[in-house]
Amino acid sequence: MSEPIGLFGGTFDPVHYGHLRTAFELWQTLRLAQVRFLPTANPPHREATLAPAELRLQMVRAAVAGQSGFVVDDREMRRSGISYSVDTLLDLRGEYPDRSLCLLLGMDAFLGLPNWHRWQQIFELAHVVVAHRPGWKAPITGPLGEVMVDRGTGSVRDLHQSRAGRVYVQAVTQLEISSTDLRQLIYSGRDLRYLVPDAVRELIVTTGCYAQHQPEAQR
Ligand code: ATP
Repeated sequence: MSEPIGLFGGTFDPVHYGHLRTAFELWQTLRLAQVRFLPTANPPHREATLAPAELRLQMVRAAVAGQSGFVVDDREMRRSGISYSVDTLLDLRGEYPDRSLCLLLGMDAFLGLPNWHRWQQIFELAHVVVAHRPGWKAPITGPLGEVMVDRGTGSVRDLHQSRAGRVYVQAVTQLEISSTDLRQLIYSGRDLRYLVPDAVRELIVTTGCYAQHQPEAQR
């Protein structure tokens, strides 16, 4: 079987080095053929995004430009309605019937998985790879505790030798950056230099896409 394809979804509002470094380390350690960044159009679990979809896509494209193995996939933006990951995975599974697919999630996203639309079906379509994020611990109880017992593996080979169904947890360099905090910084007139790639910072400055928004915490 060919090397797995990593699928990294997010609102990327904006994309930052926490996302990029995590994707890069997973690409290298798991020997993924590629990491596909899938910016979400209409996320189901949160308030509306702040930067328009087209601009978030442009920022992700700028962030990954020139990095071999990094690909931007805009299918969720071309689809109307709420962006459910399970629909995206069904779509990709249709395109890659025999390929190992790995859904890449931060631990915070993984902990919310049981609230996702048709979440159990996700394991029929892909493996789930969980990157440690600062402050988050792997679940040992509840539905995800069971998932860890039934599907957990510590072997990268399992991700290469089957198409779907395993859960793998990988420690990555911890960069305590979140898009929410970045939006807060911009609102307070601070500079994002060294937190996001220069090309992303340029787009944020020239479009002023976050400057006029009051951050969530202060609403
Ligand atoms: P927000 O603060 O707006 O919720 P975010 O920074 O968490 O945004 P998302 O686009 O919601 O970014 O996250 C996309 C994916 O990236 C999720 O799986 C999330 O867990 C992961 N992620 C986000 N920030 C980091 C980080 N600093 N390190 C590792 N993974 C991260």
